[in-house]
Amino acid sequence: MNNKAVALFSGGLDSMLAIKLMMEQGVEVYALNFLTIFCTCTSKGCMHQATKAAKELGVPLKVMNITREYMEIVRNPKYDRGRNMNPCIDCRIFTFVKAREYMEEIDASFVVTGEVLGQRPMSQRRQAMEIIERESGLRGLIVRPLSASLFEPTMPEKQGIVDRERLLDIQGRQRERQFKLAEELGINDYPCPAGGCLLTDKGFSSRLKDLFKYKPDYTLSDLHLLKIGRQFRISEKTKLIVGRNEKENKALLNFAEPDDYIFDVVGIPSPIGLARGDLDEKEIESIASIMTRYSDALTEKAKVFYKILPSEELNILTVEPATETTLQAIRI
Ligand code: SF4
Repeated sequence: MNNKAVALFSGGLDSMLAIKLMMEQGVEVYALNFLTIFCTCTSKGCMHQATKAAKELGVPLKVMNITREYMEIVRNPKYDRGRNMNPCIDCRIFTFVKAREYMEEIDASFVVTGEVLGQRPMSQRRQAMEIIERESGLRGLIVRPLSASLFEPTMPEKQGIVDRERLLDIQGRQRERQFKLAEELGINDYPCPAGGCLLTDKGFSSRLKDLFKYKPDYTLSDLHLLKIGRQFRISEKTKLIVGRNEKENKALLNFAEPDDYIFDVVGIPSPIGLARGDLDEKEIESIASIMTRYSDALTEKAKVFYKILPSEELNILTVEPATETTLQAIRI
């Protein structure tokens, strides 16, 4: 066993503190960050934050984009989900397995995390942590510097690579001790202390469930679109997304693919609508009426055009706006 370790690294405060505590003991730390489309740390993304934080700590950082593999777990978790679509225990097992593989690849001997016992309701309960450790094949090889005194000594501690006496006994959701420690260790910039995960969001989870139900063969573009606009289930095969602002309108056009329908209202300020699926005439008409409702026409009749990509040929129809009741009934 050597003094090299892989650290699971979100770029948030706890993982920064854990790394710093290990570095102070002479451990050679390699940070590992995971990128999925569900991360919402900052407007620039979690990778930006992790890169910045790793630089501040002076540790090498590897970023793994795991969205594709990860989706299998999100869809069929072995353990329970949290309140929404978040499969926290499976998610942690998955990331620890990846950390173990990376550990073997770079000939490191153990894994470090910023986990704090009892901080997160699902994945940081003692029983869940034991399951995660066992299932990831890392028994005795996960050092949690912030809560280490509350666990049995790990291999690196038993072998004297890590001094247990210098590790901490933080537990629970209060974060005062972490803030104080950050000050002591000179860590000042930690913009995303709690991390952000869309899978814990109720609205996003409804959209994801809807996608799994109606489009099991979804694409990466379908996943990205879940984050944009107002969404409506028009039929089993068709979904409509309506931009809420200029940025979302542009994003819709960026993610649009051949065979998608693009809707807009003629001559009146209105959002862009993107419909994906098989549309018949009736559905085209109801989408046009939704578009009218979200345009400045509001309660008036309006002319709506649509085109089927990649064609630029415009089709025009005049419709009444949809009612609020209709919208509520089909909103995802
Ligand atoms: S909150 Fe999201 S990222 Fe965090 S463990 Fe749960 S599923 Fe994974």
